[in-house]
Amino acid sequence: MTYKIRTTSLEQTQDIAYKIGKWVSNGMILTLEGDLGAGKTTFTKGLAKGLGINRNVNSPTFNIIKEYQGRIPLYHMDVYRLESGGDDIGLDDYLFGDGVCVIEWASRIEDLLPMERLDIKIFREGENQRCIELTPIGKNYETIGKVL
Ligand code: ADP
Ligand code: MG
Repeated sequence: MTYKIRTTSLEQTQDIAYKIGKWVSNGMILTLEGDLGAGKTTFTKGLAKGLGINRNVNSPTFNIIKEYQGRIPLYHMDVYRLESGGDDIGLDDYLFGDGVCVIEWASRIEDLLPMERLDIKIFREGENQRCIELTPIGKNYETIGKVL
């Protein structure tokens, strides 16, 4: 099952992400795919608000991972530049930790990811229009249908 949602502003994208931030629970994995400028980081900002995080969330590209404290911890990763298989950043501690992992460019570490997760793809359809595709994999994730 894939849910498709079309948004026409960054606020709309963040509203959806906010709802998802209210829904997520400990240990969840969310992958984010989409070209540069699609809205992956924008989405993550909305999700962080839903988790009750007030700090500004920005792109972790050069840090690979940033950690925020909300209702539950948020581990925001951008693995575009990750080459080591994740050992040097202790990837597994995050993937199998208590927080929510949001992973930009997750397909680069596909082999290291758990099977069960929420896959999110963002497609740019115009200056302000995006199509967001959400594919839950596993029982815990299928409840997303109720919040969309
Ligand atoms: P990424 O992390 O995928 O590279 P960003 O979130 O950094 O992308 O950038 C997305 C850009 O697109 C932002 O400048 C944002 O304002 C703009 N934008 C325009 N319309 C939308 C929309 N509907 N949803 C998300 N972002 C949008
Ligand atoms: Mg980004």
